[in-house]
Amino acid sequence: MATTVLNVNEIKSKALDAFVNKFGENANICVCAPGRVNLIGEHTDYNEGFVLPMALPMITLIVGKRSNLEKCNIVSLSEIISSENYVEFEVSSRKNIKPGEPKWANYIKGCVANFICDVPSFNAVIVSSVPVGAGLSSSAALEVATYTFLEALTGVKSEKPEDKALACQRAEHDFAGVPCGIMDQFISVMGKEGHALLLDCRDLSIKQIPISQINDYVFLITNSNAPHKLSSSAYCKRRDCCYEAAKRLNKGSLREVSISDIQVLKAQNVPKEMIKRTRHVITEIQRTIEAVDALEKRDFNKFGQLMNESHDSLKNDYEVSSIELDTLVAAAREINGVLGSRLTGAGFGGCTVTLLKKDVIDETINHIKAKYSGNATFYIATPAMGARILDIN
Ligand code: ADP
Ligand code: MG
Repeated sequence: MATTVLNVNEIKSKALDAFVNKFGENANICVCAPGRVNLIGEHTDYNEGFVLPMALPMITLIVGKRSNLEKCNIVSLSEIISSENYVEFEVSSRKNIKPGEPKWANYIKGCVANFICDVPSFNAVIVSSVPVGAGLSSSAALEVATYTFLEALTGVKSEKPEDKALACQRAEHDFAGVPCGIMDQFISVMGKEGHALLLDCRDLSIKQIPISQINDYVFLITNSNAPHKLSSSAYCKRRDCCYEAAKRLNKGSLREVSISDIQVLKAQNVPKEMIKRTRHVITEIQRTIEAVDALEKRDFNKFGQLMNESHDSLKNDYEVSSIELDTLVAAAREINGVLGSRLTGAGFGGCTVTLLKKDVIDETINHIKAKYSGNATFYIATPAMGARILDIN
C-alpha cells in the first residue's frame, strides 16, 4: 500500500500545539508550500530548457507570530535534520544576516535577507510532510513557505509570483550554497491543483497542463530511501560540463544547441563525457516538449515511453542514476499496466516516478518490494496547489 500523507489540518494542529508549548501563546499566522515531483525534463533547468513538475500534497507548513523580542526563535519538528532543531537570529537589519549553523536555518535566513522589505522579529514552528533530501524538494518547500510567511507577517506581497520564486532560489544559492535551478521554487509557488507546470527555464514563461483528467492512470512516487551519494559535487560537475559545452559551441546555453552540434564537439576532440552530457540535455529538452504534446493528446503510452527514454538517458549519458534507482525502475517496468518509470530529481538516490494504471498500483508496489533489497516507500502523486496562506482556525 502507498503511504498516506498527513493532511493539512493534521499538520497544522501539530504545529499549533508545538507553538503553544514552546512560546506560551497562540500563533496567528499559518502558511504552507508544497514539495514537487518532476515528471520529465531532468537536468534541463540550468540549461535553460523545459521542465514539467507538479506540486504534491506533501507540504511544509509554518505557524508563527510577531514577537517583541530582538531575535527570531524558530523550531523545526523535522526528525531528519541532523543538527539542532532550534535556531535564533536577529532580523533587525536584514542585509546583515549571514549564513551559519544550524545549516537548515540558512534557507530561512536567506529568504529573510532576500525579502522585499525589512521584517519584524517573529517566532515560528515548522512541520513538514515532504521527505527531506529525497529529491521531492523539501528545500524549496521550506524557502517558499518562509517567504509566504514573511508576506503574511508584513502584509507586503511580491508583485509577480516569479519574483518570489527567484528570491527563494537566491536564498538557496547564497545562503545554503546550493547552485540549484529555478524549477523547484517555481512549482512550489505556482502549483495548481490538477495540473503539471510546463516551465520554460529560458524566458520563465509557464503553461499549466491539466492532468487530473488522466482518469485510469496515476503517477506513483517510490522513495528509494537510499542516502544521496556524491550528489552536490557531481551536480556541480555536470552543470559546469554543460556550461563548458555551450561555450565551446559559442552558445549561451545548451537550449540553443541541436543534435547536429554534437559533431562539432566531436571535431574539437572534447572528452567523451561532454558529448554524453550534451546529448542528454538536447534529447531531454526535446522529450519534455513531446511529453506535453502527448499529455494534451491523452496519449499516455507515448508519455510513458518518453519517461523510460528519459531514465535511460539519465543513466547512460548523464550518469546520475544509481543501482537502487535502476532496480526500482526495472522492477516497475516488469508489470503489465506500467507505462513508464524513471528517476526523478537530481539523481544519485532519492525517488523514481512511475506512470501506471490505477488497477495495478498494489501489484506494482508488491513487485517492487520483492525486487528491492532496501526499504522503499510509496506515494500516490496527486497534483496539488502551490504556496498559500491558511486560516489559523
Ligand atoms: P530536497 O530538496 O530534495 O529534499 P535538499 O538537500 O535540497 O533535498 O534539501 C534538504 C535540506 O533542506 C535539509 O538538509 C535541511 O537543511 C533543509 N530542510 C528541508 N526541510 C526542512 C524542514 N522541515 N526543517 C528544517 N530543515 C529543512
Ligand atoms: Mg532541494
